[in-house]
Amino acid sequence: MKVAFFSTKSYDKEYFNRFNDDNLHEITFFEVPLNNQTAGLTTGFEAVCVFVNDKIDEETIEIISVNGIKVIALRCAGFNNVDLKAAKSRSVSIVRVPAYSPESVAEHATALILTLNRKTHKAYNRVREGNFSIENLTGFNLSGKTVGVIGTGLIGSSFCKIMLGFGCKVLAYDDIYESPDLISKGVQYKKLDELLTQSDVISLHCPLTPETAHIINANSISKMKNGVMLINTSRGALINAKDAIEGLKSGKIGYLGIDVYEQEADLFFQDLSESVIQDDVISRLISFPNVLITGHLGFFTKEALEEIATITLNNLSDFENGRELLNEIKS
Ligand code: NAD
Repeated sequence: MKVAFFSTKSYDKEYFNRFNDDNLHEITFFEVPLNNQTAGLTTGFEAVCVFVNDKIDEETIEIISVNGIKVIALRCAGFNNVDLKAAKSRSVSIVRVPAYSPESVAEHATALILTLNRKTHKAYNRVREGNFSIENLTGFNLSGKTVGVIGTGLIGSSFCKIMLGFGCKVLAYDDIYESPDLISKGVQYKKLDELLTQSDVISLHCPLTPETAHIINANSISKMKNGVMLINTSRGALINAKDAIEGLKSGKIGYLGIDVYEQEADLFFQDLSESVIQDDVISRLISFPNVLITGHLGFFTKEALEEIATITLNNLSDFENGRELLNEIKS
């Protein structure tokens, strides 16, 4: 298929070119994101391939479908950035990569916890400056602590198992499905409020939906333990960032680790080191000594990139050959 590939980075080209055997698909790589301003680039293509911050709203879908796009291939799991209703009404199919190495994100959430707790980032910088003092680098034993996991799908399950391995008591909340496998391993499902009040560490692994948007807000934060550690590797808008700032200022939130941010589309995946950041909320978050932000790199392992490229190319081949679309998102 003729595929217009948006938001391209060097690693996308590397992995997609490597797995696009015999140039099965004719891919044109665009660096710009797909949105209503760039949708005109799709003339002459049959498919688009997009990532987490491409904005596939009604207007974008209208333009690309008029241009001949029949399928949108998401090279990610989440699909909150696509207007499913508009795609359906224009008969544009949507495929995604539902599972690519969930361990990559679960392990990144663990990295955020360990870094925030044991302050290895600060120790590293100190030692490089010849400062071997350990003052103010006190952490806590993860073993024996209570970890609350919101959303126990693929990533949440993997994360629960890692936390059990650390000797934590693991509480879970999932609105839709309680996993017998996790229960047999010792995970205890609770009501959301119980999880919020009892956990020392809370990690978010549910998708962004109208029900989960700002699930972490002033009200839910007020129920948490004083000094709680909050981790979000799922989607930025699960947290009301302004409420989190108030929680950090009061000390209610003792540590915040985020790989995602509600307004990340204007910031992430770009080098803005020579720019003045206009977003005062992220600037305030960056200023806290107990906040750790990474720029949406939970998925970013060799294994995940291989899976993403292989599955996306297969999704496109299935569509082209009229085969059943196993990874289709149906609205
Ligand atoms: P999944 O579909 O396997 O699991 C999601 C779980 O959340 C399901 O068990 C579902 O029942 C549960 N859920 C749905 N609504 C809920 C609610 N209201 N309250 C509580 N639980 C609810 O998805 P996954 O593969 O585990 O991925 C989870 C999320 O991680 C994705 O939606 C995506 O936003 C995010 N993600 C982030 C990265 C990254 O690089 N940081 C990479 C991949 C995925």
